[in-house]
Amino acid sequence: MQRRRRRRHLRIGVRMALCGIGLALVSVACRALLPLAAPSAPPANLLMLLPCVGTTHAAEALAASAQAAYNPMLKVYNAQNGKLETQTLEAYVLCVVTGEVPASFGDEAIKAQAVAARTLAAYKMRALGGKGCSKHPEADVCTDSGHCQAYAANTDNARLGALAAATAGEVITYGGKPIQVFYHSTSGGQTEDVQNVFSAQLPYLISVPSAGEEASPRFSGEVTVPRKRFIQKINDAHPKARLKDATLEASVTIAKRNASGRVAMVTLGSDSATGIEMRKLFGLNSANFTIQVTARQVVFRTIGFGHGVGMSQVGANAMAASGVDYRAILAHYYTDTTLQRLAP
Ligand SMILES: [Zn+2]
Repeated sequence: MQRRRRRRHLRIGVRMALCGIGLALVSVACRALLPLAAPSAPPANLLMLLPCVGTTHAAEALAASAQAAYNPMLKVYNAQNGKLETQTLEAYVLCVVTGEVPASFGDEAIKAQAVAARTLAAYKMRALGGKGCSKHPEADVCTDSGHCQAYAANTDNARLGALAAATAGEVITYGGKPIQVFYHSTSGGQTEDVQNVFSAQLPYLISVPSAGEEASPRFSGEVTVPRKRFIQKINDAHPKARLKDATLEASVTIAKRNASGRVAMVTLGSDSATGIEMRKLFGLNSANFTIQVTARQVVFRTIGFGHGVGMSQVGANAMAASGVDYRAILAHYYTDTTLQRLAP
């Protein structure tokens, strides 16, 4: 039943060509909605058209688009004030976009972020068949950026509002359902396969290249740890390692990397740790690092920022800067997925 209910909420969104009717200044955005096959749905060849909206102002067209979109209510646990709040999906999406990416990002990168944010919410929303936020069961989503998504209550940036509204209702789907979205700040040139980070195999979250990130301040990083502190931290977490100062250089080696370049395994004396564990232990920007043991300290040099799975926000911005639209950005980072529109 849950599956049927969710499928009824999905309609294939087909953005049709602008319906120019001879007036150069009048642009009319039309969308044709094709229902997915569901027991109660009309035949698949029957197009259900939303009324076209004519306007001379792009902003009005965007507002009309947002108005026309299915915009259900969701429950948000606000980690900042500890309250459970109810708001519309589109209002929530704008708060996430504002919290997740700088306003200096290109238009198409912001739109891609809006669709990703909406997809995460749609995947979790109970009204759409989801399981809600696992950390705050009373809510569909929470505002803890380390759990669900970042969130900024101040959303008075008109440009961000118009860009988010331009994608109103759109979600990323695979097999007709909203995908489990992951995204991160900076991949460092190659995203990570989801199974190397979250132990789940999802065909749409495989490793893909992510060009043009080098200029980002988060592209590379460095963490230095005094030798004694490094030895103590490792021996506390891995007593079997038995690291000693006299033999430290020979005891610490990167044993294996994933295809993306991120560290899979580090040998630590008689024990080992994953790259992800090392990232957490020493607060590294990413699991793609080198280790250099010097006379006084241990130096980690990192590439990228975040877990590396799904869309790279900085990579998306680089694509946007080179003229790629948000649909192509999302199709690049989420393999073999489709954009669809939520509908009642
Ligand atoms: Zn959450």
